[in-house]
Amino acid sequence: MDYYSLIPLIINIMVFMTLVSSRPLLNTRVLLSSNEPTNNNICTSTSCIKTASTDYGSLIQELPYGLLQPSSISDIIHLVQSSYNSSSPFPIAARGNGHSVRGQAMAKDGVVMDMSSLNNNNVTGIRVSGNSSLGFYVDVGGEQLWIDVLRATLPHGLAPVSWTDYLYLTVGGTISNAGISGQASFHGPQVSNVLEMDVVSGKGDLITCSKSMNSDLFYAVLGGLGQFGIITRARIVLDHAPTRVKWFKMVYDDFAKFTKDQEHLITNEGFNYVEGSLILKNSPSNSFFSSSEQHLINSLASENGILYCLEAVKYYHDEIIYTIEEEILMIFSTLNVNLGLIFNKDVTFFDFLNRVRSEELVLQSLGLWDVPHPWLNLFVPRSRIADFNQGVLVDIVQKQSLSSGPFLIYPINRKKWDNRMSVVTPEDDDNMFYTVGLLNAAGPTTDPAVIEKQNKKILNYCEKAGIKIKQYLPHYTNKAGWMNHFGNKWSAFKAMKEQFDPKMILSPGQKIFNLD
Ligand code: FAD
Repeated sequence: MDYYSLIPLIINIMVFMTLVSSRPLLNTRVLLSSNEPTNNNICTSTSCIKTASTDYGSLIQELPYGLLQPSSISDIIHLVQSSYNSSSPFPIAARGNGHSVRGQAMAKDGVVMDMSSLNNNNVTGIRVSGNSSLGFYVDVGGEQLWIDVLRATLPHGLAPVSWTDYLYLTVGGTISNAGISGQASFHGPQVSNVLEMDVVSGKGDLITCSKSMNSDLFYAVLGGLGQFGIITRARIVLDHAPTRVKWFKMVYDDFAKFTKDQEHLITNEGFNYVEGSLILKNSPSNSFFSSSEQHLINSLASENGILYCLEAVKYYHDEIIYTIEEEILMIFSTLNVNLGLIFNKDVTFFDFLNRVRSEELVLQSLGLWDVPHPWLNLFVPRSRIADFNQGVLVDIVQKQSLSSGPFLIYPINRKKWDNRMSVVTPEDDDNMFYTVGLLNAAGPTTDPAVIEKQNKKILNYCEKAGIKIKQYLPHYTNKAGWMNHFGNKWSAFKAMKEQFDPKMILSPGQKIFNLD
């Protein structure tokens, strides 16, 4: 062979390789220590470190080595592999939108992966597929915000069936937990509506998984708190979307009647969304109510100290408005609510799903959005919900009156929760449980430490009273806490970690396997 004739070809290949590997460097700092992540695209500037070490909770700060803004799935694979293959593996946390409240998306001394940068590079994006006989679905990048999924699916007359109350959260972030809202009783949580995923494991392998393919990884990742892999694509069930909703709020002074009606509505057909909340004397005005309605509610709240507000929604299409009203009247005739205390609105489906955004914008304008959020989210066994109401909501939350909430309480039908998923619910065999969200915000006059003290008091009360709660968006500071949390799922959870992330690289901010 004439080797000299190959020289132009070799030069061409070298030029091509140089071009491929010469992506812009975010940071050219020379890495001095051998156990620092060796990837020149990692940003270590003050602003990158700030992004990576803060979250919605504003309670915890963990300083990482740096922030990686991947522009492709290969960037994610390379980073994980470089940690896995290193003699001193470094921690890596995927950061969705950083809306955790206790540092779950942080990585002390490691690398935080800013998933949103995949969106800038349109890597997986949002792609609607399917047909009416086999069903519709959407393939979305783990970095996508649910609001963008809604915006992309609605023009097709389609939408996901299970939501969170707030849509500026990422698909990867919510399905690492569960993703719950008032639709969960009818369709299951968001994790029950995932058909397939692409996941980069803690060894740096890109694995496609579903109920029938790599099913152990599939179930482990759903509610898996980011422990087994980085979700780069999720295939999510779609259904025909309604155009409008009839939105009701019903006010009760009697807890037993309130919960009886909630349970009735989630076990019978009629409404498409059921939630509930507390109204206390210091609850702020709610833009849902007119000023005369608000006045009435305020005076009832002052009289009773505590009220319960059942929220229910009926989806409809513009053309069937008349039959819908008859149907709704029929449902109301089966409830225990005082008919004078039913309030309603009629809004578009989009505005209903995106309802928290307008509240966010108001709070942002008042400087009350980026404040510490010492939240406590619990799943409470149905058999003890009356005790929980008296011991926690009345005797602690109402009496101490530390903040104005919001405080959510509603039952969830368990029928669509698959027990093979990592997500944890109360261990009894009741067909429903309650979710309680004590969504406190510390304000200029409320010290987060005082709210944290109240949270501890609530957890202690439940323990003493034998109310076997499970935390949602869990946070524990010792191994016993995690073992107790996962209960009969702990050994499977640990075995999956050993299989898919044996060097304990991923989502260190959850502090499950790497407690200080
Ligand atoms: P992040 O906080 O960025 O990450 C959360 C965890 O998931 C971290 O451990 C992270 O490492 C991991 N992670 C992130 N992306 C990926 C990925 N692609 N692959 C693998 N792991 C990943 N929850 C509900 O269920 N229902 C609600 O109605 C609801 N409402 C909320 C309202 C507000 C205002 C806020 C702030 C939160 C709410 N949440 C709700 C909680 C929310 O679902 C969780 O905090 C969720 O983790 C936030 O999503 P994120 O995209 O910001 O995730």
